[in-house]
Amino acid sequence: MSDISNLKFGTRAIHAGADADASTGAIMTPIFQTSTYVQEYPGKHKGYAYARGKNPTREALQKNIASLENGKHCLCFSSGMGAIDTVIKLLAPGDEVITGDDLYGGSYRMFTKIFMNYGIKFHFINMTDAGNIEQYINAKTKLIWAETPTNPTMQIIDIEACAKLAAKHNLILAVDNTFASPYLQNPLNLGAHIVMHSATKYLGGHSDVVMGALIVNDAKIYEQLAFIHNTCGATPGPMDSFLVMRGLKTLHLRMERHCYNGRKIAEFLEKHPAIEKVYWPGFTTHPNHLIAKKQMRDFGGMISIVLKDKSIENTFRVASSFKVFSLAESLGGVESLINHPATMTHASIPKDIREAAGVVDNLLRLSVGVEDVEDLLNDLEQALK
Ligand SMILES: *Cc1c(COP(=O)(O)O)cnc(C)c1O
Repeated sequence: MSDISNLKFGTRAIHAGADADASTGAIMTPIFQTSTYVQEYPGKHKGYAYARGKNPTREALQKNIASLENGKHCLCFSSGMGAIDTVIKLLAPGDEVITGDDLYGGSYRMFTKIFMNYGIKFHFINMTDAGNIEQYINAKTKLIWAETPTNPTMQIIDIEACAKLAAKHNLILAVDNTFASPYLQNPLNLGAHIVMHSATKYLGGHSDVVMGALIVNDAKIYEQLAFIHNTCGATPGPMDSFLVMRGLKTLHLRMERHCYNGRKIAEFLEKHPAIEKVYWPGFTTHPNHLIAKKQMRDFGGMISIVLKDKSIENTFRVASSFKVFSLAESLGGVESLINHPATMTHASIPKDIREAAGVVDNLLRLSVGVEDVEDLLNDLEQALK
C-alpha cells in the first residue's frame, strides 16, 4: 500500500510497513533470518550489508510502529531497556535529567545503578504538577524523561506542559508510552521528541516476545539514536520482529477490549469492601483525570489496588488465589495478570523511596486482559473474599 498516512489507526495497524513480499507476493512480511547479505563487489549491495544494522523484517515493523505513533522514524530494540539505554546515551557526563518519582523499576535501576556511575545526574521528582518541574531545570539539564500513566500508581503527567518546558529550555522530552500504547496516546503530537515503548507489552500483546521501540520525528535526534542503535547493538532478531508485527495487527481490537474490561473492573473494585483505594485514570476523582481525558483517547486496562488489610501475608494470599488472572510480571498481553510490585517489578527500588511513591506492601497491580469480563469479575470476587 503506497500512501497510508491518511488511513485510520486500525487500518494502519494492519497495513503500515506490510507490503507484500516483492519476490513471492507473500502477504506476511517474511522472517529474513540472516546475519549478512551478499555483495557484488565491496560496497555494492542491495542496501543491506549486515543484520545488526538493517534487516527487512525489522524495517517493516519499524515502519508500522512509526505510523501508529504518527512519527517519521522508528528504531526497534531487543528490549524496552535497550531502547531506554540508547536514549540516555545521547547524554554526556555532567548532564542532568528530570524524571518522575514513580517510574518503571527497571528504568529507576538503570538510571541509578548504571548511568549515575557515568556522571549523569537524575532528579526524581513529582511531575504530576507541571508547575513543579521548572525549578529543577538548570544549564546542565538536557532531558525530561516522562512516564505516563506511571507504573504502578497510574499518575498522569501533562505531556503538552512538559513539551512547552522542553521547548523553552531547549531540552529533549522523551515519553515512555508503554502503558497507554499508541492507540490511547501519541506523545509526538503533543510536542514530545522521543516516544519509547516496551513493545513486550501492548504492542506485541501476546506475552511471547521481549522488544523495545523508539519513535521520533526530528532527523538529527534520529541520526544520533540510529548511530547508537547500530554501534551498541541492542537490536532485535527477525523472528521477534515478525511476532510484534503480527501482534500489532490486532492492537486496536485488543485495546478496545482492554479499555472496556478495565472500566468494568475499576468500577467493581471501587465499591469492593476489601479495597482501600483504586488507581485508574478514568475516575473523575483521579487527581489528573482532566489531563488524562485531554491527552488519552480512553483509560486502558492497567489498574492498581491497595487492600484494606495492610499485612503482606494477606496481600500474598490474595495475589496467589486467582484462577483466571495469573500472578506474573509484565503487562499488556491478552491474558489478565496480577503483580505484587513491592516484591516483583519494583523490588529494586529501596523500600523508603518505594513507599513514599505509594508502592506499599498491600498494593497489587492488575493488567486486565481481553477475556470475557464476567469471568474476570467473578475471579476478583472470589480472590478478594
Ligand atoms: C516493561 C517496561 C519497560 C522495560 O521494557 P522491557 O521490554 O521489559 O525491557 C519500560 N517501561 C515500562 C513502563 C515497562 O512497563
